[in-house]
Amino acid sequence: MRILVTGGAGFIGSALVRHLIENTAHEVLNFDKLTYAGLLSTLDSVACSSRYRFVQGDVCDAASVRAALDDFRPDIVTHLAAESHVDRSIDEPGAFIQTNIVGTYTMLAEARRYWSTLGSTEQAAFRFHHISTDEVYGSLGDTGLFTESTPYDPRSPYSASKAGSDHLVQAWGHTYGLPVLVTNCSNNYGPYHYPEKLIPLMIAKALDGEALPVYGKGDQVRDWLYVDDHVRALQAVFERGEPGRRYNVGGHNEKQNIEVVRTLCATLDRLAPRADGIPYAEQITFVVDRPGHDRRYAIDASRIGRELVWKPRETFETGIEKTVRWYLEHEEWWRPLVAAKAAERRGVCEPEG
Ligand code: NAD
Repeated sequence: MRILVTGGAGFIGSALVRHLIENTAHEVLNFDKLTYAGLLSTLDSVACSSRYRFVQGDVCDAASVRAALDDFRPDIVTHLAAESHVDRSIDEPGAFIQTNIVGTYTMLAEARRYWSTLGSTEQAAFRFHHISTDEVYGSLGDTGLFTESTPYDPRSPYSASKAGSDHLVQAWGHTYGLPVLVTNCSNNYGPYHYPEKLIPLMIAKALDGEALPVYGKGDQVRDWLYVDDHVRALQAVFERGEPGRRYNVGGHNEKQNIEVVRTLCATLDRLAPRADGIPYAEQITFVVDRPGHDRRYAIDASRIGRELVWKPRETFETGIEKTVRWYLEHEEWWRPLVAAKAAERRGVCEPEG
């Protein structure tokens, strides 16, 4: 099949592209704007494949999207391009509204136009797969799980923008008959995760001897999924999922943030102990909580398991071990990103003149 991946230079998108090129016979067009979070270095291992192409483009720009669709003529569109960092959405929500809502609208409008030009067999086989988050469901108490029928209750500008995009996708399915699929996944982690997110940020700061800042008491609970398990779930959904249906994806790995940070510290103590022998956990500090911080997310992923025979291969322990090893072995990938971020912060903080 011919698969157009938006956001294919990001964390999950690049894992999907690498998987499709390395483990399937599908052809891939990666359509990505290359924002700060989009890095072609994530795709070095597949860049030379004759089944891989890249186009730099913005999902909000209808003309570029149209040209990519008409030129590549995909069987499947997997839409991952988004602004994805909750902290940034609190500081500057505008880009989230633009890319996540207007960009998804633009993708849907152009996908529908393209789809309407296909013959009936191709129309029936076409899929528009929207990749979303469990954060659209809001926050849980100590018990319970998000199912596919949990009402939406987004709390942050990020999750509200993703909820808006999910509703648009469902509407294009109901109103125009576009064969849409939506997946809502829990927190991912793994290689090539931009070092502003919890797990890579903590690994980078630990190795640099910096304080490890944990929000509030660190008792917020997230359900963690290794990125390659998510990617296999996405493939199962766009290959075998029922159009119009939503699938939750999660790892059954509920952990408090502080547990995640302590596990990272213990793994680093084993794999790359500090020269002074002091445990990395001594670097943990608690900082003022994020405004509106959701308490607990947990996914019931039984539908995708039952209907599409998917289950995660990694446990939290094996996934964290792989991830820490990857960051230790790929400092050349993440160190420049950390340095650029530090320079950007210095630039913002320095008084003018
Ligand atoms: P990411 O921030 O690492 O990557 C986003 C990619 O989208 C980047 O390559 C960026 O250049 C591209 N992009 C941004 N704006 C664009 C635009 N206007 N036009 C074209 N490309 C643009 O994000 P990620 O963590 O890989 O997440 C991918 C998708 O999965 C997002 O839709 C996110 O909401 C969803 N998701 C993420 C997680 C997670 O834990 N990271 C969990 C569930 C769902």
